[in-house]
Amino acid sequence: MNAIDDLRARLPGVLASDDPADRVAYARDLWPRHHLAVRAGNPAEHRPGFVVWPRGTDEVAALVRWALSTSTPVVPFGAGSGVCAGVLPDPSVMVMDLKRMAAWRHLDRDTPALTVEAGHMGLPLEEALGREGFTLGHFPSSILCSTVGGWLAGRSAGQCSGKYGKIEDMVVDLEMVTGAGDVVTLHGRAHGPSLVPLVVGSEGTLGVITAATLKLHPAPASRAFGAWSFKTAEEGWEAMRVVFQAGLRPAVARLYDPFDAMLARQGSVKRAGKRASKKAEHGPGRGAAALRALLRRPGAMNGLVDALGSTVLGGAMLVMIHEGDEAAAARDMARTRSLLEDGRMGATWDGEGQARKWLQHRYSVSYRQAPVFAQGLFSDTMEVAAPWSKLAGLYYGVRRALGPNVFVMAHLSHAYPDGCCIYFSFAGSAGTGDDWDAACEETYDRTWRAAMAAVLDAGGVLAHHHGVGRSKAPRLTEELGASGVATVRSIMRAFDPRGIMNPGNLVPNPSPPPYVPSAAPRAVRVEAR
Ligand SMILES: Cc1cc2nc3c(=O)[nH]c(=O)nc-3n(C[C@H](O)[C@H](O)[C@H](O)COP(=O)(O)OP(=O)(O)OC[C@H]3O[C@@H](n4cnc5c(N)ncnc54)[C@H](O)[C@@H]3O)c2cc1C
Repeated sequence: MNAIDDLRARLPGVLASDDPADRVAYARDLWPRHHLAVRAGNPAEHRPGFVVWPRGTDEVAALVRWALSTSTPVVPFGAGSGVCAGVLPDPSVMVMDLKRMAAWRHLDRDTPALTVEAGHMGLPLEEALGREGFTLGHFPSSILCSTVGGWLAGRSAGQCSGKYGKIEDMVVDLEMVTGAGDVVTLHGRAHGPSLVPLVVGSEGTLGVITAATLKLHPAPASRAFGAWSFKTAEEGWEAMRVVFQAGLRPAVARLYDPFDAMLARQGSVKRAGKRASKKAEHGPGRGAAALRALLRRPGAMNGLVDALGSTVLGGAMLVMIHEGDEAAAARDMARTRSLLEDGRMGATWDGEGQARKWLQHRYSVSYRQAPVFAQGLFSDTMEVAAPWSKLAGLYYGVRRALGPNVFVMAHLSHAYPDGCCIYFSFAGSAGTGDDWDAACEETYDRTWRAAMAAVLDAGGVLAHHHGVGRSKAPRLTEELGASGVATVRSIMRAFDPRGIMNPGNLVPNPSPPPYVPSAAPRAVRVEAR
């Protein structure tokens, strides 16, 4: 009897499928390296054996116990929006999609807090909370395509982290089914060790998160908007540092470096995206060929942008939004302005318009990737962080490492009194010819290797909110040290003694991820122009 037949016989009520379409649909998350394989004609290298959709914690526990009894690896699945290969199954794997578990268990209006099941999608959650007069304050750009469980497992950050923090600052209690098949509720504690932080960021390796109690805030009654220009990105992040160290907590604080700022000012990301999608319908045209040719020499493009950044491109741009009650939002913006516009910070007040425009289009830019790949390019993002004292080393070090391989721009979007996250966006291409797909992969891998080495050299951390997945796990020993990795493994053994939970994820794995043998990529050729 094969695995799914055994499961159906022993757990007759559970929804399960090994339909080929389902296996393809659950074969990957949104790791951009997968997009290269898709473009090469191979959309599903990593098909799982089958998929299950539990409807409650009891079913999750029954499924994990069944998996234990049959040594079946389990990969929890939220909405698959992860970008680091946290979901990379193989035919032995049972993928467990949590989205049927989306009930509100308890809204505590006095605390206020919400206990909600882990499969709840992001945007409907915020919308429903808004109708009750609350906000969670968590707005990842992927809010349209991610779940509460995925946020917790990946240690996510939202666009309003300046005021509300990351997801780890919002969670009070967690319910989970451990890899040993036990249903446990972990409580936030005021004394002694708390287990909640161990599970937040565990990326499916300790167990399945089934529900969480999350702190809420009153929905903001008012917002105050502001934008400033700076000659350089460095002047801009100095301004962010001053604001956060003065005790101000703007919900949104985003600094765009000169090229990213130029796109943001013109709104051209949106327009370019529209043009690109139109072209993509008809296949890549001459514009795409020109772009590919330019991106084969990224060093020259990066040099040009560096030279023109503060003059022709208009310098860096800082956008801030304070929110709360009307008086508090206005007061905080006035104080921010007095700090930034005292003549010493190099800030030029640009008015409210850019910040208002940013809020209106806050989710648009993240969904422009498909046309980029369709044009024969690749793109990706890398979100790293460091204390303020190391930020310049991190910014310039990573730019230097990326520069020869890809065209690079950056913004800083999650600031703290003691440091900041830098979010690099990059696009590249590769040579022409029969081996073009392989050359793209080679360039992509080389780019990431160089950038991760630069992050570690600069004393930064490899990820701020996208998680580790399988894409960054090989470098984790350099960040945590061998004993740090050994400690993480011991925690994994404590929660998941048989190692069935998302094996190969999060920590360096001695063996490479298994490939489905039948997955021979179809070569896609791009003519030399
Ligand atoms: C366009 C776009 C924009 C993005 N913007 C942001 C952003 O602003 N901020 C941010 O933080 N991230 C962002 N991301 C990354 C991604 O959305 C987050 O990592 C998100 O938290 C993943 O949620 P998910 O539900 O899709 O999880 P999945 O991708 O399904 O899973 C992610 C990992 O968590 C594990 N997992 C999922 N659910 C559970 C569970 N219930 N129990 C245990 N383990 C589980 C999976 O096994 C996997 O390892 C973005 C991604 C995209 C594609």
